[in-house]
Amino acid sequence: MLTGMQIAVLGGDARQLEVIRKLTELDAKVYLTGFEQLAHAYTGAVKEVLEDLPVNELDAIILPVAGTNMEGKIETIFSNRQVVLTEDFLNNTPEHCVIYSGISNAYLTELTDKTNRKLIQLFERNDVAIYNSIPTVEGAIMMAIQHTDFTIHGSNVIVLGLGRTGMSVARSFHALGAKVKVGARKTEHIARISEMGLTPFFTSDLEKEVEHADICINTIPHRIITANVLAKMPSHTLIIDLASKPGGTDFRYAEKRGIKAILAPGLPGIVAPKTAGKILANVLGQLLYEEIEKGKGKQS
Ligand code: NAP
Repeated sequence: MLTGMQIAVLGGDARQLEVIRKLTELDAKVYLTGFEQLAHAYTGAVKEVLEDLPVNELDAIILPVAGTNMEGKIETIFSNRQVVLTEDFLNNTPEHCVIYSGISNAYLTELTDKTNRKLIQLFERNDVAIYNSIPTVEGAIMMAIQHTDFTIHGSNVIVLGLGRTGMSVARSFHALGAKVKVGARKTEHIARISEMGLTPFFTSDLEKEVEHADICINTIPHRIITANVLAKMPSHTLIIDLASKPGGTDFRYAEKRGIKAILAPGLPGIVAPKTAGKILANVLGQLLYEEIEKGKGKQS
C-alpha cells in the first residue's frame, strides 16, 4: 500500500487514468493537475491547479509519458490550462521527491539535474518496453492493414532492429504468415533471428535487401532508411516507422519517390490506452512502494 504518500499527477492522456485508479486503490493521496475536464471522480484524488499544490509535501510527481516539451510545458488533454514544470517548482519539493516520466528530453533532464531531484524514465525499463511492445505491434498490424491493398500473409516484410519492439514485431508478422527478414548489426542478433526461423541480414546491407519489400517496419532510432535505401525500394513499399521522433526514415525523399512512409509514434496510447495505462500503473505502484521501503530503511 502507498498509505501516507502524497503524489501529484501532472497532465497526461487516457493512460494516466489507469495510473490514478491504481494509486488511489493503493491508498496514496493523489493530486490531479490538468484534469479539470475529467468528469470521473476518484475517491482519494483531488483536482488542484499547479499553484495550489502542497509542493513541499509531495513525495512523487508523475508526468505524462512524453514528460515535458523543451519549454517545460506538460501535455494536458483533460484541461485547457497551461501546466509548466519549472525550476522554482521542483526546488520547492522535498529533496526525496521523485519525478516519474515515460521518456525525458534535454529540458527535463537538465531541470532534474539542476534541482537534484531523481528522475525515473519508465520506458527505459526492460519490463515496460517489453510489455509496451504488445500494443505497439497491434498498432503496427492495424497500420499495415489500413495502408495496403494486400494481405500481410505472404507479403515480404522487413523489420529493422531486434530490440524489445523489433523482436515482437518480427515474431507477430511471421505468425501472420508474412515472409519476414530482420536487419540487425550485432552477430548475436543475427543468430537470434535465425533461431526464430526468420531471415537475418546486416543493416549495413540494407540497400541490397529492400528490393522486394512490401512492408518495412523500422524500430531503429537512427536515420537508417536513407535516400540510397529508398532508391532501391519498390514504390509500393509501405514504411511504418516506429522509432521515436524524428524516426529513422528520410521522409522527404520517400515522398519525392512516391513511397508511403508513416511515422507512427505512441501507438500503445492510441490503440490500447487502457492496457498501456495499466502497464505504467503496475510498474509505478511497485516503484513507489520501493521508495517507501527505502525511506523506512533510512529512518531505522
Ligand atoms: P531497443 O530495445 O533499444 O531496440 C532498438 C534496436 O535498434 C536495438 O536492437 C539496437 O541494436 C538497434 N540499433 C540502434 N542503433 C542502430 C544502428 N545504428 N544500426 C543498427 N541497429 C541499431 O528499443 P525499443 O524499446 O525496441 O524501441 C525502439 C524504438 O521504438 C525507440 O525509438 C522507441 O522509442 C520506439 N517505440 C515506439 C513505439 C511506438 O508506438 N511507435 C512504441 C515503443 C517503442 P543494438 O543492440 O545493436 O544497439
